[in-house]
Amino acid sequence: MTEVRVRFPPSPTGYLHIGGARTALLNWLWARKNNGKLILRIEDTDAERSTRESIEGIIDGLTWLGLDWDEGPYFQTEFAGEHVAAAEKLLASGHAYKCFCTREELERKREQALAEKRDVRYDGTCRNLSPEEIRAREEQGVPYVIRFRVPHRQGVVAYEDKVLGRIERSYDDIEDFVIVRSNGRPLYLLCNVVDDIRDRITHIIRGQDHMSNTTRQVLLYEALGAKTPVFAHMPLTLDLQKRKISKRSHGEIVSVQFYRERGFLPWALCNFLALLGWNPGTDQEIFSRQEMIEAFTLERISKVNSVFNYRKGDPKFFTDPKLISMNAHYLRTMDIGELGELVQKDLEQQGIWNRAWEKEERDWYLATLDLIRDRFHTLRDFATLGRAYFADDYTVEQKPLKKNILKHPELKKWLPQLADLFSRLDNFSKEETERVTRELAAELDIKPGILINGMRTVLTGQLAGPGMFDILVALGRDRVVRRLRDIDRFYPEQ
Ligand code: GLU
Repeated sequence: MTEVRVRFPPSPTGYLHIGGARTALLNWLWARKNNGKLILRIEDTDAERSTRESIEGIIDGLTWLGLDWDEGPYFQTEFAGEHVAAAEKLLASGHAYKCFCTREELERKREQALAEKRDVRYDGTCRNLSPEEIRAREEQGVPYVIRFRVPHRQGVVAYEDKVLGRIERSYDDIEDFVIVRSNGRPLYLLCNVVDDIRDRITHIIRGQDHMSNTTRQVLLYEALGAKTPVFAHMPLTLDLQKRKISKRSHGEIVSVQFYRERGFLPWALCNFLALLGWNPGTDQEIFSRQEMIEAFTLERISKVNSVFNYRKGDPKFFTDPKLISMNAHYLRTMDIGELGELVQKDLEQQGIWNRAWEKEERDWYLATLDLIRDRFHTLRDFATLGRAYFADDYTVEQKPLKKNILKHPELKKWLPQLADLFSRLDNFSKEETERVTRELAAELDIKPGILINGMRTVLTGQLAGPGMFDILVALGRDRVVRRLRDIDRFYPEQ
């Protein structure tokens, strides 16, 4: 059996965006499923728009996502000689010809055709020039492009798309397209095919936006005497307004880097991206890498466009809510040691890391993550919403401040009283702290909730969170007592 060989061939003209990442992911899945190879090819032929920075960004992004490749990165520009040689081969075999029509001439004919409501395709003026006519023009130095000679056959060019079924286009519909510009540079359409032939690509999995090229490329494979690979065209990803997701209209929200910086887990993003355009045929949404590799088939790539549910300007929907909830799922369920490593990096960056949490207090650190992770959605939440567990400079949210603190000025007396009781406990446990809290409430003849909510706000800055007495134990007696005694800071000075 021939080895399955797929490729991810980004044009390095910007950051790695989620559409590109999805393409890379589906190719990766197919390679891994078939014990095949994934080739990374940087299509840098457009020298003006390609940048070093973009190449690095793409490589970093793929690496972060865990989408490893087996060959490359190859650079398309390194094979420029082969692209020219292929064009020459097509000329020599009569599959292509030199076209000396000037731009003005073509433009004039185009306008005329439009005015007469005729087809605007190239009319084949240079298709059958004699060798003498060609030589004469060359001697005069008339610039030329090279056009592919589309066979004048009856019927259709067809290929079997793994997703969409049989795709046909009538020969009559395809004009003699340009494969080499007048400056001698081969067009992308040709380079892409030459590279895929050289890289022995068996499957081309790419967006439907490339379909307009495919039938012409099928003709090129045929003319170059190569076997046409299997095509699988993926649906596009649209936003809620049905606009194609793109760097230009959506900005950073569609860049992989955006998710990395905001504390998304690489596999959570992959899991989400896979389902934007593929469905397993069951209700299952959460897949491990191995499960997804096993479940993935080209036939289950969707035919219809998928929607990236992003609502501009709404902080709760700063990205697709499904992605947020998937990320939360992975945060909640992932190996705690692994989570510990990731959060550590973030706390270090925030300058609130304590070396003791690497050794003697590692157990405390991991238990605390485990306690608070239930409500979090991204890795960043540990250093922000969960900051009170790791540092004293946490912010207190307005809503609980008003509701739980400012509304009850007596807490200025009560919480320090509670702090005294805590400081005298033999055992600063969940049970003991709860017991004295309830006893004090009874003595003061108030609902325990007033003390508990007040404490939660003072100690964590948050309206909600884990069980209050678990929080006390996680924070430890010293911090609890100190913060409760310092409650005055919340009230405006009188
Ligand atoms: N370089 C093209 C792109 O970035 C890929 C073309 C292809 O997959 O054939 O869209």
